[in-house]
Amino acid sequence: MFNRRKFIKASALSASLLAIDRASAAAMIPNPSSLETVKPIVISTWDFGIAANQAAWKVLSTGGRALDAVEKGVHVPEADPKNQSVGYGGLPDRDGHVTLDACIMDDLGNCGAVAGLEHIMHPISVARLVMEKTPHVMLVGDGALQFALENGFKKQNLLTKESEKAWKEWLKTAKYAPVMNIENKLYDKAAPTKLPGNQYNHDTIGMLAIDAKGNISGACTTSGMAYKLHGRVGDSPIIGAGLYVDNEVGGATSTGVGEEVIRNVGSFLVVELMRQGYAPEDACKEAVMRIIKKKPEIAKGIQVGFLALNKKGEYGAYAIQKGFSYAVCTSQKNDLLIPGKSYY
Ligand code: ASP
Repeated sequence: MFNRRKFIKASALSASLLAIDRASAAAMIPNPSSLETVKPIVISTWDFGIAANQAAWKVLSTGGRALDAVEKGVHVPEADPKNQSVGYGGLPDRDGHVTLDACIMDDLGNCGAVAGLEHIMHPISVARLVMEKTPHVMLVGDGALQFALENGFKKQNLLTKESEKAWKEWLKTAKYAPVMNIENKLYDKAAPTKLPGNQYNHDTIGMLAIDAKGNISGACTTSGMAYKLHGRVGDSPIIGAGLYVDNEVGGATSTGVGEEVIRNVGSFLVVELMRQGYAPEDACKEAVMRIIKKKPEIAKGIQVGFLALNKKGEYGAYAIQKGFSYAVCTSQKNDLLIPGKSYY
């Protein structure tokens, strides 16, 4: 069992090893990323996090607020038609509707979310408006669309030709067969870039940032599980499941099969564990272990990954399966990483 004393000891040991010989120390430390304490910093899920982080970095590096950075950052995959698991170009639900889920949370504990939103390219910005302009936290479906249109968002067709074609292919068998880690080319160079029609993918962008003032915000946005039942909502727009931020402690976000994350209130759990002294990677691992413990048979065949950032700027990740990737951007680097370990 992890305890605070062990954590402090481990950190002190890591620091002294680092002072002696950075290269050999790094090899000995299970989670070298946890030594990072550079701020500002932005981290996000999957390979597409690299481009998203760059957009967020433009805000952070000019003294901007973490909240603005995460919103601008996730706009990149939301607007990318080639990204079939977020925003425009996302694979549709079983009935051919592209329905988007997103949420955002700031350093003051404010949050906003939309679920099942259709026709709007940037659901994250609608979520932000829900947070800032309404007394509510979440709007869904037609109500969310109406709110977006009233606030100047433009109605667009989000179903690209490519995603429509994949959906029509899928309809031939209508069989669920998840392709894990479809976005991760670092781990698996041979991973397909195009999905066969009878398969579906899921991969959300979750982003966490600390600005120059030390304040944390997070954003999470997705088209959810492809070919889902119309009306299905995953973890991504649910505060505490897909995203959670506590400015005193840190933030966490998740990707993968959202039902399992919701059952365990995953991101909230990760943040609470960090509050107790867990390092980010250890907190993510514990959240993954809860999923595996409750549903071992299901967990074998699915991917869920958590990504966390604490107040000090230390970060870490852990996933059920190999192949999860995340991107980290600071003044010193813009890297794509894979978690040191995964369960399988
Ligand atoms: N968590 C998302 C959902 O369940 C999908 C993903 O991140 O892969 O909708």
